Amino acid sequence: MNFDRIAQHSTALVGCIAWIPLAVWIMACVHWTIGGDVDPLTGLGGIAVAIGLGYEAINPPVPQLAPLTVIAVFITVFMFPFVRSAMDKRALRSIDIEALEKAYASLGMRNDNVMAKIRIAKILWDLGVCGHAIRIVEALLPSMPQRFFMEDIRMLKRWHMMRVEAHFFAPIVCAECHTSNEGGILFCRQCGAPFLLDFVKGKGVGNRLGKKLISTWVSLIAVLIGIPAAKAMPPGPSIALIVLMMLFATAMVYMAFKDPTGGVAA
Ligand SMILES: [Zn+2]
Repeated sequence: MNFDRIAQHSTALVGCIAWIPLAVWIMACVHWTIGGDVDPLTGLGGIAVAIGLGYEAINPPVPQLAPLTVIAVFITVFMFPFVRSAMDKRALRSIDIEALEKAYASLGMRNDNVMAKIRIAKILWDLGVCGHAIRIVEALLPSMPQRFFMEDIRMLKRWHMMRVEAHFFAPIVCAECHTSNEGGILFCRQCGAPFLLDFVKGKGVGNRLGKKLISTWVSLIAVLIGIPAAKAMPPGPSIALIVLMMLFATAMVYMAFKDPTGGVAA
């Protein structure tokens, strides 16, 4: 029996199988980067680490790292649905924000447009600004005859039944003039800015969960697998590669976590 050969063959097999999820991951990273869901740095990091893992899996420079590589591939498979769902939520959120902008634009032309105001409230509800959504429709009730607005009045009743927590009704500070605005109005009472629109935009287009997941994952793999693997190389390239990986990982994590409110620009 030649255990070495069996071990070699099984390593090669694991290496080939590992490429299937990695290829899916790489395609997804390319897609997210082109679509603007992640910035090029994060996308590139995700792709580079997947290629590195695939290379490690087929041709491990340090045999002791092979189990760690397999675990890393497994984590990638496990993490993928979470990252994708975060990306999908982000896409939905940006569609909602676009719809909100349109509704605000149509209000600009006719300020007594009850339908547009209700539409704004509905989108705000979907975006999680529940308290203000409720107050807006409540304020509109006197101008909503029951026979025309039966559906919307029912919707308000449903919202009331959801028992929205008190903090959702807290005033929102205008991004333009810093005036605190109570629920029920659509434009800042001081400067007239669409403060609710600014508020949802300021919260960033979607949560940055996807970006945080990718950058944490890339950094972990760089530190746990990339650095030990690079040590096996000749000293010159080894040090250069380690410094490069450390810089890259630090930059990615910094970019993903630096702004807790999240900017629109990724
Ligand atoms: Zn203002």
